[in-house]
Amino acid sequence: MHACPCQSAETYDDCCGPFHRGDALAPTAERLMRSRYSAYSIGDTSYLLKTWHPTTRPTSLDLDPDVSWFRLDIISRTGGSMFDTAGTVEFRAHYRYNGETDEQHENSTFVRENRSWLYVSAV
Ligand SMILES: [Zn+2]
Repeated sequence: MHACPCQSAETYDDCCGPFHRGDALAPTAERLMRSRYSAYSIGDTSYLLKTWHPTTRPTSLDLDPDVSWFRLDIISRTGGSMFDTAGTVEFRAHYRYNGETDEQHENSTFVRENRSWLYVSAV
């Protein structure tokens, strides 16, 4: 049993795995954000594109294999619940690159359309 890359303390199969496989939809903006972090971590570009809003989605996505994501901190969130259609999630995602550690600090906006949460952009 593998721990989920998003560090929820759940196993991957009980956490982000069902979202990546298309067996379930992330119920909240934070769960979607966590599953996207996990997708970056394991290199699942098709899931990243699928959960990107069509208005901001890149046509293709190349992940640098030298970037290794190792920690996610959720800092704050607004909206994004099962009863919302929009929300924001502020996070710090930590990674190693060329032996150095660095972090991406972002406040992301999400919308829910047809029951699916989608990443829109950084604020
Ligand atoms: Zn997870």
